Amino acid sequence: MALEFGLGYQPQEIYDVIIIGAGPAGTTAAIYTARGGLKTVVLYRAESDGALGVTQKIENYPGVKGPISGYELLTIMREQAKSFGAEFVRGKVIATDFSGDVKKVFTIDGREFSGKTVIVASGAMERTNKFKGEDEFLGRGVSYCGVCDAAFFKDQPVAVVGDDDYALEEAEFISRFVSRLYFLVPGSKIKAREELVKELEEKGNVEILRRHRVIEIKGDKTVEAVRVKDVEAGEEKDLAVNGVFIFLGGTKPSVDFLMGQVEMTGDHCIVVNEEMMTSVPGVFAAGDVLCTSIKQAVIAAADGCKAALAVDKFLSGKAKITSQW
Ligand SMILES: Cc1cc2nc3c(=O)[nH]c(=O)nc-3n(C[C@H](O)[C@H](O)[C@H](O)COP(=O)(O)OP(=O)(O)OC[C@H]3O[C@@H](n4cnc5c(N)ncnc54)[C@H](O)[C@@H]3O)c2cc1C
Repeated sequence: MALEFGLGYQPQEIYDVIIIGAGPAGTTAAIYTARGGLKTVVLYRAESDGALGVTQKIENYPGVKGPISGYELLTIMREQAKSFGAEFVRGKVIATDFSGDVKKVFTIDGREFSGKTVIVASGAMERTNKFKGEDEFLGRGVSYCGVCDAAFFKDQPVAVVGDDDYALEEAEFISRFVSRLYFLVPGSKIKAREELVKELEEKGNVEILRRHRVIEIKGDKTVEAVRVKDVEAGEEKDLAVNGVFIFLGGTKPSVDFLMGQVEMTGDHCIVVNEEMMTSVPGVFAAGDVLCTSIKQAVIAAADGCKAALAVDKFLSGKAKITSQW
């Protein structure tokens, strides 16, 4: 399978390992691969993203006396990985091509990364349910990408649905183009860094509506309104918008970009062997994306360590995995 994206981006170099996800699994893998001398790039969606990124307090991670926020813990881990030479590059992965010896990974902004191996550590925070009208108006007002589509809504009103760092960062970008932006938060809390919330609140064209659930996306040929329910007041109303950007999370493994190339269970959980390798040689997986029964940062980190050492074995042709001292 050869994927053509036609955006003219030429991959500059071939990495020893491309790690998808900068949570505890991906970042720990990067500490080990970079320290082991492997050219490592880590791709991630947003700074304070993923299960640990949205965790407000953690106090059971060994060696780090908390409570600290998940984002602070991740920052410490990422600094450690960077100190060994790992590159961290922001970019949502939307597609992969594992058909050749050199694996290809494509991000939403049209970049292409090439690697001899890949570790999938993208967690399990995808949505399971869709809104009424979401599929119908996809590409006709409904979007999952601010960078790609915000400019199409210049001087028009839009809604952005979400409650975390990723959603806020996207909303900030979209607000530069649109006339009005309704930021719809389903619950009472925004699980993001305070400074991001403040920055968005201070924008003149943004209205943050907490406890507002989307009921339906409506329109004719394109989106014309979003029907929302104010759950506190118990009232429903239509907001006139031309676009609806959706950045909500859930509990499904984040594996859409694998496009069925590796073996998975019926619940979209990646199947790996005892060395964390998937059904595709050279493609490994670690952390919550495996649907491990115990979802804890330390378990994800341990998975990341195992996957990294297995990558080293795969690339060097060693007979067995060797520990790193
Ligand atoms: C609210 C909450 C509280 C928790 N509290 C604790 C606790 O106190 N102690 C504890 O040990 N564990 C806790 N956990 C569990 C722990 O956070 C997870 O088990 C752990 O973070 C899983 O690590 P991971 O690296 O597999 O995935 P995540 O931490 O989910 O990281 C996934 C990474 O993948 C990236 N990603 C996803 N999709 C893409 C894509 N398409 N392209 C590029 N990058 C992508 C994300 O940006 C992120 O960097 C908590 C979880 C939650 C949700």
